[in-house]
Amino acid sequence: MTQTLQILPGDGIGPEIVAEAEKVIEWLRGHAGLELHVERDLIGGQAYDAYGVPFADETLEKCRAASAILMGSVGGPQWDGVDYDKRPEAGLLRARSELGLFANLRPALVFDALIDASSLKPEIVRGLDILIVRELTGGVYFGEPRGIETLANGERRGFNTQTYTTSEITRIGRVAFELARKRGNKVHSCEKANVMESGVLWREEITALHAATYADVELEHMYADNCAMQLLRNPSQFDVIVTDNLFGDILSDEAAMLTGSLGMLPSASLGVAGTPGLYEPVHGSAPDIAGLGKANPLATILSLAMALRYSLERGDLADMVEAAVRRVLNDGVRTADIMSTGGREVSTDEMGSAVVAALSAA
Ligand code: NAD
Repeated sequence: MTQTLQILPGDGIGPEIVAEAEKVIEWLRGHAGLELHVERDLIGGQAYDAYGVPFADETLEKCRAASAILMGSVGGPQWDGVDYDKRPEAGLLRARSELGLFANLRPALVFDALIDASSLKPEIVRGLDILIVRELTGGVYFGEPRGIETLANGERRGFNTQTYTTSEITRIGRVAFELARKRGNKVHSCEKANVMESGVLWREEITALHAATYADVELEHMYADNCAMQLLRNPSQFDVIVTDNLFGDILSDEAAMLTGSLGMLPSASLGVAGTPGLYEPVHGSAPDIAGLGKANPLATILSLAMALRYSLERGDLADMVEAAVRRVLNDGVRTADIMSTGGREVSTDEMGSAVVAALSAA
């Protein structure tokens, strides 16, 4: 059955980078047996301008009906004055929440050709391939009660609640163990069980899930602060890291920077099995370079590869796309953000074409 990919290019550089991913889709349809119907709609500031809301109900229904969603990025200074609930970013938050995307997957992969872009020594990051699985819909960002109150003595107090239930922990744990089985078969589970009850529960539930269903996967528990240190000291000890919303927010950005380049980082957000995942580059809409042909489309092309692997059951094509990106980088083809001595600087459009040429040459 032909599957549908819902494309939401978004704002700023979004349409430019998504156009390059579409070239790759076109090639895969013509030459590699990909059966995929593509739909397009608006999100973010573009949607606000056209529909009056940053993520319309009709767009949500189209997303629900799709097998996967590929997004560019949202936001830009032209919408700074818009009400908070109609801002471009509110559209993305609504999409994540309505689609029940509770698992955020952020790979940190170091390409040999870009090893000098990392702020760490090459011998520390060579061959690095980490997947951070972050719980996305629970924890302290959503826990109640929350607020700012004035105390009897006139002082003000800000408070949030860190909360996790058994089912929230086990469903994200399952995602991590299942992914580890397809990779290096190792999971590090990170929390602060030494000082937080929610961390004690997290550790107990992950331990129980592991014993009941995933004893074949290597499991190690680690305090989140130690994980932050180990990511810099010895990052290659990690395969899959599973952690909560707050620690995942910080650890995934830290791991991303081991790779050195924002324009290279893909992501996936997944819900329960059988519902569409949302795939998008980690970076924003880069209004400073929008329309200049300078944006690096590789994070978006690598996000498409993740969609092929995790939602469209075409891991074989994902491997092909990732190999083509590696080949282009090995050949010295570079957008401005990853330019280095000896490289050949190209535009957004030329980078997309180079990936297609590498697919053809394979
Ligand atoms: P940004 O990621 O857009 O840009 C940060 C810097 O990195 C800029 O100098 C930009 O030119 C550069 N950059 C980013 N992506 C690049 C690429 N593919 N190729 C080359 N250079 C790239 O972050 P920002 O400037 O803080 O935010 C700009 C807008 O994006 C804001 O409106 C913000 O809210 C939004 N944003 C959206 C998302 C999302 O859609 N998921 C994520 C982050 C920020």
